[in-house]
Amino acid sequence: MDKAKKIILTGDRPTGPLHLGHFVGSLQNRVKLQDEYQQFIIIADVQALTDNYDNPQKVHDNILQVTLDYLAVGIDPKKTAIFIQSMIPEIAELTIFYLNLVTVERLKRNPTVKEEIKNKNLSENLTAGFLMYPISQAADITAFKADLVPVGEDQLPMIEQTAEIVRKFNRIYAPVLVEPQALVSTVARLSGIDGKAKMSKSLGNAIYLGDSLEAISEKVMQMYTDPNHLKVSDPGKVEGNIVFEYLDAFDPDKNAVQKMKDDYQKGGLGDVVIKKHLIEVLENIIKPIREKREELSKDPEKVMKILQEGTAKAREFAGQTMKEVREAMKIKYF
Ligand code: ATP
Ligand code: MG
Repeated sequence: MDKAKKIILTGDRPTGPLHLGHFVGSLQNRVKLQDEYQQFIIIADVQALTDNYDNPQKVHDNILQVTLDYLAVGIDPKKTAIFIQSMIPEIAELTIFYLNLVTVERLKRNPTVKEEIKNKNLSENLTAGFLMYPISQAADITAFKADLVPVGEDQLPMIEQTAEIVRKFNRIYAPVLVEPQALVSTVARLSGIDGKAKMSKSLGNAIYLGDSLEAISEKVMQMYTDPNHLKVSDPGKVEGNIVFEYLDAFDPDKNAVQKMKDDYQKGGLGDVVIKKHLIEVLENIIKPIREKREELSKDPEKVMKILQEGTAKAREFAGQTMKEVREAMKIKYF
């Protein structure tokens, strides 16, 4: 391990294959930064189980799917350690100790958790595990003494919660933990194809990095545009129009997008034309990823080996942090 390098910890829940929101929200930054930083990527199966505890097979199977996505977008296992959360018991151990540093009231105020409880209809059966997942996420980040965490905007409250835990821990025990910074990309929160505020694996509104051209076309054709743009000749609205939001996020030709926006607002540009253009733009991005993914999926054992090696590397690092934490907390007896 290169001690001089700063550290990144980032990751995803194995609740489904990865989508375009992950691509612009975090994956692109991870690929870009993996040379400069020592990067750890966590596949957060323990966190995925908080709202999928009754569906362990889904979580199990998606570990491979998520790893295929990482490798297909260009995460290099020689530079980045990809690991499985549940295989690092130190994270669970840290979580237990951090639970004492956060009030239940504070957890209930977390805006992302509140939104997820609503979107996933969890309010009736809210478990202790789901409510406290931000604490477990603080353990993920601090076990690796991460300086930087590339995330989508929905994760900012988790980084804030982590920083609070770090400050409290360091003040009460000893300055062992590192306060992380969030790195939010230019597209901090990509909307779903249904117009919901966030594309998400669990909401069924995603375009996946492994989607076929047919799947992409079908999803784009369903997209919400401007409900008042009934005739091609009508002036259309660009704000809140998901097709333009996606063109802004993915079309490399910004001038062409501006021209389309002007024409759409004047009237005379139909929804089908802009959607066909978006399909082309998305296919250009997804095609090479899909092809690489297909090739990698022929050898799942090799992919699991990469995870095993990444997990061993991560375990070593987390073990070292745990030693320091035990010492600071005076829970070292013999
Ligand atoms: P789930 O619905 O199971 O929570 P998800 O689609 O929200 O899945 P996560 O695994 O929770 O995906 O998120 C992993 C990372 O991807 C986080 O940093 C998150 O902020 C980012 N991310 C997820 N969805 C988006 C999105 N629509 N736009 C930008 N970033 C996103
Ligand atoms: Mg999520």
